Amino acid sequence: MDDVMIGLEIHIQLNRLRSKMFCGCSTSYHDAPPNTHTCPVCLGLPGSLPVINRKAVEFGIKVALALNCSIAEETMFYRKNYYYPDLPKGFQISQYDYPLATGGYVLIKGDDGQERRIRITRVHMEEDPGRLVHAGTIDKARYTLVDYNRCGMPLLEVVTEPDLRSPREARLFLDKLRTILEYLDVFDGNLEGSLRVDSNISLAGGDRVEVKNISSHKGVEKALSYEITRQRNLKRRGIEVVQETRHYDELRGVTVSIRTKEEAHDYRYFPEMDLVPLRIADWVPGIRAELPELPDAKRERFREQYGITDDHAKSLTSEIKVADFYEWVAARSDPKLAAVWIADVLKGELNYRDLTIESFKRESMLEIVRMLSENEITDEIAVTLIRTILDRGGSPREIVESMGLKRADDDYVARAVREAVADSQEAVRDYLSGNARAINYIVGQVMKRTKGRADPSVAHRLVKEEIERQIC
Ligand SMILES: [Zn+2]
Repeated sequence: MDDVMIGLEIHIQLNRLRSKMFCGCSTSYHDAPPNTHTCPVCLGLPGSLPVINRKAVEFGIKVALALNCSIAEETMFYRKNYYYPDLPKGFQISQYDYPLATGGYVLIKGDDGQERRIRITRVHMEEDPGRLVHAGTIDKARYTLVDYNRCGMPLLEVVTEPDLRSPREARLFLDKLRTILEYLDVFDGNLEGSLRVDSNISLAGGDRVEVKNISSHKGVEKALSYEITRQRNLKRRGIEVVQETRHYDELRGVTVSIRTKEEAHDYRYFPEMDLVPLRIADWVPGIRAELPELPDAKRERFREQYGITDDHAKSLTSEIKVADFYEWVAARSDPKLAAVWIADVLKGELNYRDLTIESFKRESMLEIVRMLSENEITDEIAVTLIRTILDRGGSPREIVESMGLKRADDDYVARAVREAVADSQEAVRDYLSGNARAINYIVGQVMKRTKGRADPSVAHRLVKEEIERQIC
């Protein structure tokens, strides 16, 4: 998609903070009844004075450093004036000139398979407005409710250059950003509204269209694809794409026009006189020193230290919890075997059940990897163990004992092979007449007779030997 240009503005709730951006209200409102986490400051009642949450600014600097940005010497807050029902004081405290940070980048794997640098224009801080709850879709709702619990939640806005070339790249960028935020422990992506995206999309030669408020991570790719198709169709029919703001309707999977695009001067930004400019240059060295190992660095280290493939390293570092889990197991067992079983098998089984890595004990994984490297169990049994533990708990050792899953001894497998060959004479004839694959059927019979406890490669060898013995 050479002619597509996509830039993103991502609003990130710093929801690991205890209190809001400018007041002491708790940030854990997500399960609370509407309008119960508010005070005169976050409601903007006359006479109330905001106070900057220092920790929020530190979190913002942490993120900006992780995105390779330059941090400002001094930063300050502005009032962004507009009227909207979710904003009771009629302005939002945000940043305009003097944002927290500028000029960073994030690396992703582009559509051409090459590593691409997506440039970050700026990172600034602001407060979240409240939340409107429409009864139905935004353009057809009969009434709308307002919840001010979200007012004053600390937000970080990350703005990219229009460097993304496809909806898929946009999703990869967001995946990467989310991974970084979780590594920094400033953000819990599972909470409603924790990450919201506005996007600017244009085709070569056309005007920019802004699609606002895409709130689900999965929605981004769909919303962008829809919007690109819409613009292509207009272009094909010779209709000009007008610069406007559209809303993504998740229920119907379409974008709808809401207004023509506003410009910065529409907001009449002016300095927030109730807040002092912050000199943050001196904070930076301390925060930089405390940055954890970030995903790209960890991936590189995993590859080198444990000798695993790049794909495995990537998969194992996409979530900090998975990375920690792997590292614990790898340090106590065969790291390559552990990588295969965690990245390829365990993650798949967790995904399938919509579970996180916390549903599986690292001790259990270690035991399984050890039993595999000791040849105590077969691959097939290891899969059974992982599934059984996820479905009804227990420890690997216990399950192996109680279900009799230990790898079958040689005599037992040999007997199963003799019986399977004797019972599959048709397959034997097929095999002898040149159909090499017929042997797989017989091996399958052996696995069935041994309930998966035979090693398939050993069974394969024994079946061949048994057939050769027969023809002699
Ligand atoms: Zn408050």
